[in-house]
Amino acid sequence: MTTTATQNFLAQRVLGAKPSATKEMTQLANQLRLEGRDVITLSQGEPDFPTPEHIREAAKAAIERNESKYTEVAGTLALREAVVRKFKRDNGLDYSPDQIQVGCGAKQVLYNALQATLNPGDEVVVPTPAWVSYPEMVLLAGGRPVIVRCGASTSFKITPTQLEEAITPRTKWLMLNSPSNPSGAIYSHAELAALGEVLLRHPHVWVMADDIYEKIRYDDTPFATPAMVTPQLAARTLTINGVSKSYAMTGWRVGFGAGPLELIKAMNLVQSQSTSHTSSISQAAAVAALDGPMDFLPGFVDSFRQRRDKVVAALQAIKGLTCDVPPGAFYAFPGCQGLLGTRDQSGNLIETDTDLALYILRTAGVAVVPGSAFELPGHFRVSYAASDTELVEAMRRIAAACSALR
Ligand code: PLP
Repeated sequence: MTTTATQNFLAQRVLGAKPSATKEMTQLANQLRLEGRDVITLSQGEPDFPTPEHIREAAKAAIERNESKYTEVAGTLALREAVVRKFKRDNGLDYSPDQIQVGCGAKQVLYNALQATLNPGDEVVVPTPAWVSYPEMVLLAGGRPVIVRCGASTSFKITPTQLEEAITPRTKWLMLNSPSNPSGAIYSHAELAALGEVLLRHPHVWVMADDIYEKIRYDDTPFATPAMVTPQLAARTLTINGVSKSYAMTGWRVGFGAGPLELIKAMNLVQSQSTSHTSSISQAAAVAALDGPMDFLPGFVDSFRQRRDKVVAALQAIKGLTCDVPPGAFYAFPGCQGLLGTRDQSGNLIETDTDLALYILRTAGVAVVPGSAFELPGHFRVSYAASDTELVEAMRRIAAACSALR
C-alpha cells in the first residue's frame, strides 16, 4: 500500500491525536546520540533510582512460586486489598476491593476510565499545563478536551472561576493532577475545597484525580485529594495513583484507580477486552511496595529536593527565563517569554518555545520539552530526575546556549 492509501486506512480519531511529545524529544535525543553527539536527556519523567530491594525480592519470590498465570482482570485480590489499605492509610478514603482497578500503569487506568465514559463530543476539562497524554487520551476516546490555561500568576492551578466558566452541559470530567506534571504545583486543601464547591453545583461533572506524584513533595503540608476534601464528591470521583514514581517502578507497569463500583465495572470491561491485566509478577511486587517499609522514600525525596534547588537556581540565573520553585514532582517549568523573538548564531528566529527547545537540543545537546506540548506555550519542562553530574553540565550548557541568543 502507498503511504496515502495507508493514511486513508487509519481511523480519524487516531489521525487526530498526537504522539507523546516527551517521548518524541527523547527519541530525537537518542537519534542525535546515535550520530555521535553527546546528549543529556532531561525530557523523561522517571526516577533514576533502582527499585528498592525488598520489592525486587518479592518479584523473584513470585517467579519462584510460579505465579505465572492470568490474574483477575481488575488485578489480584491481594493487590487490590493492599490498594484499599493504601487509600485508607494515606488518604483516609474507604473503598472495598471491588471498587479498585489495577492497570498497566496509572496511564491505562486513566485511559480505561475515558473509554468507559465518553460519548462522541463529550467534554473533559483539562487545566493546563497538563501531562501530554490527557488531551490525546480524551480525543482517542471520542471526547473533546476543553483546555483551560493556568499560568504562573495562579501557580499553574485552575481557579474556581475558571472551572465554573469551563463547565457546560456536555462536561463529563474535570481532570486534576496534584502534584502536577509538568509544573510541580500542588493543590492545597483549601483550593480543592473551593473547586469542590463549584463541582457540587454541577452534579453531572465527575473528577479524575491523578495523584501519581503524591509522595514526591518538598514541604510538610499534608497531602489533599478531592474525594477526601469533599466527601460528597466521592461518589463521582476516580482517584488514581500507582507505584511508578514513588517506588521507582516505571517499567513494572502497575497503577490503580478507586471509585464508584459501576464505573470500575465498566473500566474492567474495557480492560478485559484490551490488555486483560498487568503482569502477575509486577502485581506481586506492587503488594510488597504498598505494604512494605517506606524508609527509602526520604532519601529519594531529599535527593530530588537538592537537585531541584540546584536546577531552579541555575534556571533563575539565566537572563530571559523565570522560574518558580516547584513544591512537588521532579520537574522545573521555567517561563521563556524573555527569549522568544531572539535569533541564534546563524540568524534563525526563535519564535516559539518549541524553537527554543529544538535550539537547546541541537546547540547544547540537552533534551527538554516545550511548554506547548503541555498546552501552556512560553515555557519548557526540565526533568531533574537525572544524576547530579548530568544536571550541572546540562545547566551550564543551557545557560551558554541561552546567552548566545541575540
Ligand atoms: N499521570 C501523570 C501526571 C504522569 O506524569 C504519568 C507519567 O509520566 C502518569 C500518570 C503515568 O504513570 P504510569 O507509569 O503509572 O502509567
